[in-house]
Order: sequence, then C-alpha cells, then structure tokens
Amino acid sequence: MCKYVNNCSFFQEFSSRESLLWKAMVKSYCDDGSTCVRHRRYEGEGIKDLPETLMPSGKHASKAFLALP
Ligand code: SF4
Repeated sequence: MCKYVNNCSFFQEFSSRESLLWKAMVKSYCDDGSTCVRHRRYEGEGIKDLPETLMPSGKHASKAFLALP
C-alpha cells in the first residue's frame, strides 16, 4: 500500500465507497502510489492538507463522482 494512506484525506474519504469507479481508482493508484499526484506532492512538500476531492490523477472530483456511493 501507499505509505500515506493514514495521512491522505482522499483515501480516508473514498477508499470505503462502494461504487466501481471509486474502487477502481483506489486500487489502481493506492496500491503503491507511484503514479499519484497527491503522493508526489506529499513527497515533495511534506504531508500537508490537500482537499479530499483532489484525485490521484490531479483533477478535482466532479459533483457526479462525489454523488456515487
Ligand atoms: S490517493 Fe495517492 S497519496 Fe493518497 S493513499 Fe492513494 S496513492 Fe497514496
């Protein structure tokens, strides 16, 4: 797992969501974090508050995404 799971507001908010979209996103990014924009920022800037809606891709989650279970 990514070493920031306990500090990452995205992971804390969305990793337990049930829809396939969230499950797929967490699986594809958070197993190792190597392609995640949040991970890169934590590495470069230290652990800091990033909005939970900032996705690993670097885009902000849309309202449609946020409404998914
Ligand atoms: S979103 Fe990125 S920083 Fe957060 S737990 Fe997943 S891989 Fe790590």
